[in-house]
Amino acid sequence: MSEMSATTPSAPPAYRPPGLAVAIREEYNRTNVDFRLPMPRPKVRGPVIDFHCHLLAHRHAADWFEAADHYGIRHFLTMTPLEEVMGLHRDWGHRVQFIAVPRWGPDMPVNWIDDYRMRLESFYNLGSRIIKFHAAPGTMAMRGVRLNHPSMQPIFRDAIDRGMAIMTHIGDPELWYQGKYTDAAKFGTRDEHYEMWDDLLTKYSPVPWVGAHMGGNPEDLGRLQDLLDRHSNLMLDCSATRWMAREISARRDAARDFFIRNQDRILFGSDQVSGDDRHFDFLASRFWVHRKLWETTFVGPNPIIDPDLPKDAQTPLRGLALPDEVLQKLYHDNAVKFLKRVGMPFQEDATSKRTAAAA
Ligand SMILES: [Zn+2]
Repeated sequence: MSEMSATTPSAPPAYRPPGLAVAIREEYNRTNVDFRLPMPRPKVRGPVIDFHCHLLAHRHAADWFEAADHYGIRHFLTMTPLEEVMGLHRDWGHRVQFIAVPRWGPDMPVNWIDDYRMRLESFYNLGSRIIKFHAAPGTMAMRGVRLNHPSMQPIFRDAIDRGMAIMTHIGDPELWYQGKYTDAAKFGTRDEHYEMWDDLLTKYSPVPWVGAHMGGNPEDLGRLQDLLDRHSNLMLDCSATRWMAREISARRDAARDFFIRNQDRILFGSDQVSGDDRHFDFLASRFWVHRKLWETTFVGPNPIIDPDLPKDAQTPLRGLALPDEVLQKLYHDNAVKFLKRVGMPFQEDATSKRTAAAA
């Protein structure tokens, strides 16, 4: 009996995506917006490209693309776990491409760096030409390894030797530095994190590089300008809905000037994250806020609750109403140029360009 059970293989544990906050209507639509009201697609020539998102599983795709279609967002650069890539590649490969990511969540293997390198190779073979490094203060403390640690170098080399671009998450909201990261001995300081990033940008120049979430510091546009001015290979993505809504709105005029001044250096991204209980309205809420923020003069309550602010001190959304030519670059042109440079254009986009040229 015991011999029998010892030789009978048990089913391998199923892959579980990392735990996400439960989708609660009062948190993603506290102002009762009808997210299904018709809305024109962004005023952009060519498909809109979301350069930073997390479509975590094939089973989430139907809701995801229904919301995306409603808001006129066509293409996605997604950080999907390798286990889910093949199905999405097969069924949605005309609309998604993949950013290489490590295994993430509660089942991180002890030898996660080796595992990361193996995954990088697989992602590369599936056409990915960008690797993501998540180096937020909490992540580096959790792993006990900073991004400039020698043990990380082989991963950088693997990626750069293959001609891949790099995306990093450095920093985090300023409210977090003032809150959960005040233990500088454990987490380090923001200045240290940016010094580390600056060194890496110099060391690996001129590899194309995307600084996620407005370089992780939308609160300090001066810092971002300095980084952009000194590193010509650096682009920023404007992803993270609640964070951007709060901090871009808080300095609306300065942010608008920044986007206009750096219109060739910023990529649209949502940081949308799919989930088993995240259906049309949840996903739509993120796209709705981004479009109000970048395209319109909307001033009013954000339908999504900001968990970093007290319930009775939520701040209004204040749209930038970016000029048409800036939106054209933000939503499309900058991403197309970047993807062409690293050799992973969306085939659909290449086709529509050819069609347009022939017409
Ligand atoms: Zn993200």
